[in-house]
Amino acid sequence: MIVNLKECKKCDSKCCRYFALEIDEPGDKEDLDDIRWFLCHQGVSIFVEEGKWYLELQNLCKYLLPRGRCAIYEKRPKICAQYGVNSEGEIDCHISGAPFDYEFEFKSLEEFEDYIEKVWGKSRRKKRSRSTKTKRK
Ligand code: SF4
Ligand code: SF4
Repeated sequence: MIVNLKECKKCDSKCCRYFALEIDEPGDKEDLDDIRWFLCHQGVSIFVEEGKWYLELQNLCKYLLPRGRCAIYEKRPKICAQYGVNSEGEIDCHISGAPFDYEFEFKSLEEFEDYIEKVWGKSRRKKRSRSTKTKRK
């Protein structure tokens, strides 16, 4: 790992306990419903970072050994080897204690449904009031 191993030992190997995959930004009701479905599952959360949407799954790596060691250290995936340092070479992982710079994070169905109501409900209501005004003319 690029990050100081002493630091890694202190942090309980948080980066080996989850993975995240980029997903499409929801564009319609069906997409929103798919995300609702993801969030029905244990260990799943959704976050948005720099405009990109991700599905995160809390799931322990099969190769994580006691005391944070990696059973396949020499041939661990590149993403593991590069984890923890940003493009400026600064430590940028859980150990830094800095909050992640997420625009949104949804850990439950309820949180996401609130977002749908606030963001999508508003635009639906706007459209409805616009079409009401059009009808009245
Ligand atoms: S989250 Fe950071 S400090 Fe912790 S094990 Fe991973 S790279 Fe090391
Ligand atoms: S392969 Fe090794 S470094 Fe990568 S997540 Fe698993 S235990 Fe951690």
